Amino acid sequence: MHLFKNLIKSFYNISVVLLMNLDVLVFAAHPDDAELSMGGTIFKLAKENLKVGIVDLSKGELGTRGTAETRQKEAFQAAIILKVAVRDNLHIPDGNILNNQENMTKIVMCIRKYKPKIIFAPYFNDRHPDHVNTGLIVKQAMFFSGVQKLKTFDHEKIQDAFRPKKLFYFMQTYSFEPSFIVDITDSYEAKMKAIKAYSSQFYDPKSKEPETFISAPEYLTYLESRNVFYGFKIGKKYGEPFFTEEGVELDLVHTLSGLSAAKE
Ligand SMILES: [Zn+2]
Repeated sequence: MHLFKNLIKSFYNISVVLLMNLDVLVFAAHPDDAELSMGGTIFKLAKENLKVGIVDLSKGELGTRGTAETRQKEAFQAAIILKVAVRDNLHIPDGNILNNQENMTKIVMCIRKYKPKIIFAPYFNDRHPDHVNTGLIVKQAMFFSGVQKLKTFDHEKIQDAFRPKKLFYFMQTYSFEPSFIVDITDSYEAKMKAIKAYSSQFYDPKSKEPETFISAPEYLTYLESRNVFYGFKIGKKYGEPFFTEEGVELDLVHTLSGLSAAKE
Protein backbone atom coordinates (compact mmCIF):
# COMPACT_ATOMS: atom_id res chain seq x y z
CA MET A 1 0.00 0.00 0.00
CA HIS A 2 2.82 2.32 0.97
CA LEU A 3 4.59 1.55 -2.31
CA PHE A 4 1.36 2.15 -4.24
CA LYS A 5 0.94 5.54 -2.55
CA ASN A 6 4.52 6.47 -3.47
CA LEU A 7 3.93 5.42 -7.07
CA ILE A 8 0.83 7.60 -7.28
CA LYS A 9 2.77 10.44 -5.68
CA SER A 10 5.69 10.19 -8.11
CA PHE A 11 3.33 9.93 -11.09
CA TYR A 12 1.52 13.03 -9.85
CA ASN A 13 4.79 14.94 -9.48
CA ILE A 14 5.90 13.99 -12.99
CA SER A 15 2.52 15.05 -14.41
CA VAL A 16 2.74 18.40 -12.65
CA VAL A 17 6.20 18.96 -14.14
CA LEU A 18 5.01 17.97 -17.63
CA LEU A 19 2.13 20.44 -17.50
CA MET A 20 4.03 23.24 -15.81
CA ASN A 21 4.33 26.60 -17.49
CA LEU A 22 7.37 28.49 -16.26
CA ASP A 23 7.80 32.20 -15.65
CA VAL A 24 11.50 32.10 -16.41
CA LEU A 25 13.69 29.58 -18.23
CA VAL A 26 17.49 29.74 -18.09
CA PHE A 27 19.50 28.01 -20.82
CA ALA A 28 23.13 27.23 -19.96
CA ALA A 29 25.84 25.26 -21.79
CA HIS A 30 27.12 23.33 -18.75
CA PRO A 31 25.82 22.44 -15.27
CA ASP A 32 26.98 25.21 -12.86
CA ASP A 33 27.02 27.99 -15.53
CA ALA A 34 23.54 29.21 -14.51
CA GLU A 35 24.44 29.28 -10.80
CA LEU A 36 27.75 31.10 -11.33
CA SER A 37 26.29 33.77 -13.59
CA MET A 38 22.82 34.33 -12.19
CA GLY A 39 22.24 32.07 -9.15
CA GLY A 40 21.25 35.11 -7.07
CA THR A 41 18.65 36.25 -9.61
CA ILE A 42 17.25 32.71 -9.91
CA PHE A 43 16.79 32.43 -6.14
CA LYS A 44 15.41 35.96 -5.87
CA LEU A 45 12.63 35.07 -8.34
CA ALA A 46 12.00 31.55 -6.98
CA LYS A 47 11.54 32.77 -3.41
CA GLU A 48 8.81 35.11 -4.70
CA ASN A 49 7.03 31.91 -5.85
CA LEU A 50 7.83 32.53 -9.50
CA LYS A 51 8.49 29.34 -11.42
CA VAL A 52 12.07 29.20 -12.66
CA GLY A 53 13.60 26.38 -14.71
CA ILE A 54 17.15 25.62 -15.79
CA VAL A 55 17.97 23.68 -18.95
CA ASP A 56 21.60 22.63 -19.26
CA LEU A 57 22.51 21.81 -22.86
CA SER A 58 25.29 19.36 -21.92
CA LYS A 59 26.27 17.23 -18.93
CA GLY A 60 29.69 18.88 -18.69
CA GLU A 61 31.45 15.57 -19.31
CA LEU A 62 34.56 17.27 -20.74
CA GLY A 63 35.25 19.04 -17.45
CA THR A 64 38.72 18.27 -16.08
CA ARG A 65 37.39 17.52 -12.58
CA GLY A 66 34.53 15.20 -11.60
CA THR A 67 32.43 13.02 -13.93
CA ALA A 68 29.17 13.62 -15.77
CA GLU A 69 27.41 11.62 -13.01
CA THR A 70 28.85 13.67 -10.13
CA ARG A 71 28.05 16.90 -11.96
CA GLN A 72 24.49 15.71 -12.53
CA LYS A 73 24.02 15.00 -8.81
CA GLU A 74 25.57 18.34 -7.90
CA ALA A 75 23.27 20.10 -10.40
CA PHE A 76 20.18 18.65 -8.71
CA GLN A 77 21.44 19.64 -5.24
CA ALA A 78 22.06 23.18 -6.47
CA ALA A 79 18.57 23.29 -8.05
CA ILE A 80 16.99 22.33 -4.72
CA ILE A 81 18.96 25.06 -2.90
CA LEU A 82 17.82 27.66 -5.44
CA LYS A 83 14.17 26.41 -5.32
CA VAL A 84 14.19 25.76 -9.06
CA ALA A 85 10.96 24.13 -10.34
CA VAL A 86 12.51 22.23 -13.26
CA ARG A 87 16.04 21.17 -14.16
CA ASP A 88 16.44 19.50 -17.53
CA ASN A 89 19.40 18.37 -19.62
CA LEU A 90 19.46 18.18 -23.42
CA HIS A 91 22.44 15.75 -23.57
CA ILE A 92 24.22 17.67 -26.32
CA PRO A 93 27.91 16.65 -26.27
CA ASP A 94 30.05 18.95 -24.10
CA GLY A 95 32.61 20.87 -26.18
CA ASN A 96 30.54 20.27 -29.30
CA ILE A 97 27.47 22.47 -28.81
CA LEU A 98 27.04 23.37 -32.45
CA ASN A 99 24.84 26.10 -33.83
CA ASN A 100 22.80 23.80 -36.07
CA GLN A 101 19.17 22.97 -36.88
CA GLU A 102 19.09 19.86 -34.66
CA ASN A 103 20.20 21.73 -31.52
CA MET A 104 18.02 24.74 -32.31
CA THR A 105 14.98 22.43 -32.60
CA LYS A 106 15.76 20.92 -29.16
CA ILE A 107 15.62 24.42 -27.65
CA VAL A 108 12.41 25.24 -29.55
CA MET A 109 10.83 22.10 -28.04
CA CYS A 110 11.83 23.21 -24.53
CA ILE A 111 10.44 26.71 -25.03
CA ARG A 112 7.14 25.29 -26.34
CA LYS A 113 6.98 22.77 -23.51
CA TYR A 114 7.52 25.22 -20.64
CA LYS A 115 6.16 28.43 -22.24
CA PRO A 116 8.37 30.82 -20.22
CA LYS A 117 7.66 34.55 -20.31
CA ILE A 118 11.37 35.39 -20.08
CA ILE A 119 14.37 33.36 -21.17
CA PHE A 120 18.04 33.79 -20.28
CA ALA A 121 21.09 32.64 -22.24
CA PRO A 122 24.89 33.09 -22.15
CA TYR A 123 26.19 36.36 -23.62
CA PHE A 124 27.15 35.66 -27.23
CA ASN A 125 30.80 36.75 -26.91
CA ASP A 126 32.78 34.55 -24.55
CA ARG A 127 35.99 32.57 -24.06
CA HIS A 128 34.23 29.18 -24.33
CA PRO A 129 32.80 28.32 -27.79
CA ASP A 130 29.95 26.32 -26.14
CA HIS A 131 28.80 29.51 -24.34
CA VAL A 132 28.94 31.52 -27.57
CA ASN A 133 26.94 28.94 -29.52
CA THR A 134 24.37 28.49 -26.73
CA GLY A 135 23.67 32.25 -26.80
CA LEU A 136 23.29 32.22 -30.59
CA ILE A 137 21.12 29.08 -30.73
CA VAL A 138 18.76 30.33 -28.00
CA LYS A 139 18.23 33.62 -29.86
CA GLN A 140 17.25 31.77 -33.05
CA ALA A 141 15.07 29.30 -31.11
CA MET A 142 13.23 32.17 -29.40
CA PHE A 143 12.18 33.46 -32.82
CA PHE A 144 11.39 30.11 -34.47
CA SER A 145 9.41 28.73 -31.52
CA GLY A 146 6.82 31.39 -32.40
CA VAL A 147 6.61 30.25 -36.03
CA GLN A 148 3.44 28.15 -36.50
CA LYS A 149 4.67 26.26 -39.55
CA LEU A 150 7.75 24.92 -37.75
CA LYS A 151 6.28 21.70 -36.37
CA THR A 152 7.66 19.99 -33.26
CA PHE A 153 6.29 17.13 -31.20
CA ASP A 154 6.30 16.25 -27.49
CA HIS A 155 5.44 12.58 -26.91
CA GLU A 156 3.91 12.45 -30.43
CA LYS A 157 1.65 15.40 -29.61
CA ILE A 158 2.10 18.47 -31.79
CA GLN A 159 3.36 21.46 -29.81
CA ASP A 160 1.74 24.90 -30.00
CA ALA A 161 3.85 27.75 -31.32
CA PHE A 162 4.98 30.03 -28.48
CA ARG A 163 7.39 32.96 -28.28
CA PRO A 164 8.77 34.30 -24.95
CA LYS A 165 8.49 38.06 -24.43
CA LYS A 166 12.12 38.75 -23.48
CA LEU A 167 15.61 37.31 -23.93
CA PHE A 168 18.28 38.45 -21.49
CA TYR A 169 21.94 37.42 -21.60
CA PHE A 170 23.99 36.60 -18.48
CA MET A 171 27.71 37.26 -18.02
CA GLN A 172 30.28 34.44 -18.05
CA THR A 173 34.01 34.98 -18.61
CA TYR A 174 33.98 38.05 -20.84
CA SER A 175 32.35 41.15 -19.44
CA PHE A 176 30.01 43.62 -21.17
CA GLU A 177 28.42 46.94 -20.30
CA PRO A 178 25.21 45.76 -18.60
CA SER A 179 21.76 46.81 -19.83
CA PHE A 180 20.58 46.33 -16.24
CA ILE A 181 21.78 44.95 -12.90
CA VAL A 182 19.72 42.85 -10.47
CA ASP A 183 20.19 43.43 -6.72
CA ILE A 184 21.01 39.99 -5.28
CA THR A 185 22.00 41.11 -1.77
CA ASP A 186 19.27 38.98 -0.15
CA SER A 187 20.01 35.98 -2.37
CA TYR A 188 23.81 36.02 -2.34
CA GLU A 189 24.12 33.47 0.46
CA ALA A 190 21.87 30.97 -1.36
CA LYS A 191 23.82 31.57 -4.58
CA MET A 192 27.13 30.70 -2.92
CA LYS A 193 25.59 27.64 -1.24
CA ALA A 194 24.35 26.42 -4.64
CA ILE A 195 27.78 27.00 -6.20
CA LYS A 196 29.48 25.09 -3.40
CA ALA A 197 27.14 22.14 -4.11
CA TYR A 198 29.43 21.59 -7.12
CA SER A 199 32.14 20.37 -4.79
CA SER A 200 33.99 18.54 -7.61
CA GLN A 201 34.51 21.80 -9.53
CA PHE A 202 35.70 24.35 -6.99
CA TYR A 203 38.59 24.74 -4.59
CA ASP A 204 38.97 21.80 -2.23
CA PRO A 205 42.34 21.55 -0.43
CA LYS A 206 41.89 17.75 -0.13
CA SER A 207 41.22 17.16 -3.83
CA LYS A 208 43.88 15.27 -5.83
CA GLU A 209 42.38 16.36 -9.15
CA PRO A 210 44.21 18.84 -11.43
CA GLU A 211 43.65 22.54 -10.83
CA THR A 212 41.45 24.36 -13.36
CA PHE A 213 40.41 27.93 -14.10
CA ILE A 214 37.53 27.67 -11.61
CA SER A 215 39.09 25.36 -8.99
CA ALA A 216 41.85 27.85 -8.08
CA PRO A 217 41.17 29.31 -4.59
CA GLU A 218 41.13 32.81 -6.12
CA TYR A 219 38.15 31.96 -8.34
CA LEU A 220 35.50 32.29 -5.62
CA THR A 221 37.10 35.57 -4.50
CA TYR A 222 36.93 36.78 -8.11
CA LEU A 223 33.27 35.77 -8.30
CA GLU A 224 32.44 37.62 -5.09
CA SER A 225 34.37 40.69 -6.27
CA ARG A 226 32.40 40.74 -9.51
CA ASN A 227 29.09 40.60 -7.62
CA VAL A 228 30.33 43.36 -5.28
CA PHE A 229 31.47 45.45 -8.28
CA TYR A 230 28.08 45.28 -10.03
CA GLY A 231 26.22 45.67 -6.73
CA PHE A 232 28.13 48.88 -5.99
CA LYS A 233 27.09 50.33 -9.36
CA ILE A 234 23.44 50.25 -8.21
CA GLY A 235 24.14 51.18 -4.58
CA LYS A 236 23.64 47.63 -3.29
CA LYS A 237 25.95 45.07 -1.70
CA TYR A 238 25.78 42.44 -4.45
CA GLY A 239 24.53 42.54 -8.05
CA GLU A 240 24.35 40.42 -11.20
CA PRO A 241 24.71 42.07 -14.63
CA PHE A 242 22.59 41.32 -17.72
CA PHE A 243 22.54 42.40 -21.35
CA THR A 244 19.66 42.78 -23.77
CA GLU A 245 19.61 43.77 -27.43
CA GLU A 246 16.15 45.27 -27.02
CA GLY A 247 15.03 48.12 -24.74
CA VAL A 248 14.05 47.49 -21.12
CA GLU A 249 11.14 49.40 -19.63
CA LEU A 250 11.82 51.06 -16.30
CA ASP A 251 8.91 51.24 -13.87
CA LEU A 252 9.66 54.77 -12.68
CA VAL A 253 6.86 54.84 -10.07
CA HIS A 254 8.16 51.65 -8.48
CA THR A 255 11.74 52.93 -8.64
CA LEU A 256 10.76 56.21 -6.98
CA SER A 257 8.93 54.46 -4.14
CA GLY A 258 12.09 52.39 -3.53
CA LEU A 259 14.28 55.51 -3.53
CA SER A 260 12.21 57.31 -0.90
CA ALA A 261 13.54 54.87 1.72
CA ALA A 262 17.14 55.06 0.47
CA LYS A 263 19.92 56.86 2.36
CA GLU A 264 21.64 59.95 0.95
ZN1 LIG B 1 30.26 26.65 -19.08
